[in-house]
Amino acid sequence: MSPIVIILLVTLALVGYILLKPYWVERKRNKIRSQPFPKEWRAILRRNVPYFYSMPADIQLQLKQHVLVFLAEKEFFGFEGQSINDEIRVTIAAQACLLLLNRKTNYYPKLKSIYVYPAAFIARHQSTDAAGVLQNNPKVLSGESWELGKVVLSWKDSKQGALVFNDGHNVVIHEFAHQLDQETGVANGAPFLLRNKLKNWSSVLAAEYEQLRKNAHRGENTLLDHYGATNPAEFFAVASEVFFEQPAAMRERHSELYQQLSRFYHVNPAIW
Ligand SMILES: [Zn+2]
Repeated sequence: MSPIVIILLVTLALVGYILLKPYWVERKRNKIRSQPFPKEWRAILRRNVPYFYSMPADIQLQLKQHVLVFLAEKEFFGFEGQSINDEIRVTIAAQACLLLLNRKTNYYPKLKSIYVYPAAFIARHQSTDAAGVLQNNPKVLSGESWELGKVVLSWKDSKQGALVFNDGHNVVIHEFAHQLDQETGVANGAPFLLRNKLKNWSSVLAAEYEQLRKNAHRGENTLLDHYGATNPAEFFAVASEVFFEQPAAMRERHSELYQQLSRFYHVNPAIW
């Protein structure tokens, strides 16, 4: 066979693979979604994610199907002596998949692994300060979202977030909101689905962010945690936590923000 024919065949196979891959992936996911949800996993939801049972039946079904796919595709790793079991996997997956409902989803395509620590952990990241000096800044965190395919979580905080689903704090929702935001590359509070699609998104979020910055500066009490005033990416993640955990309060006190998030997440949790 001549080299040109070989190159042509290889190119053809490659193009075919690229074109057909989404179809194969979807077929595989459909198969996974049609499997029964294990009885033991249902017991875990009942125990650890009571919020699940306050959602409409069709959403519950969708969420269970997403959990099946999520757990088939993502790997969990334990650190600092934390072992991984179904309780950890299902509790985290159920919260992560809340952010994927009622629309076609690619299940956090960049995310490969979830790293789980028993409790809050110390992250040591090097950064360069204004003078160009390398700094080691150890920080105690309950979660972290990386652009390079991983989310890091404290199990204690992830479990607490699922159990107490009305205090506006949820580390899993927070970190996975960052993952959605990071699908475009840099987390900046403008997840890619929103570009062009949602009119007013930027203006509403920018105005709310500015307001929170002012409130935080004055030390005023706010529904959204002041941490959201750090930057637009943190604002989006913090607003997502409140959207799911305190939807009625957000709808009342930040109605435009609630509407934008409701259109983005395709759900209306204030009526669940
Ligand atoms: Zn964050």
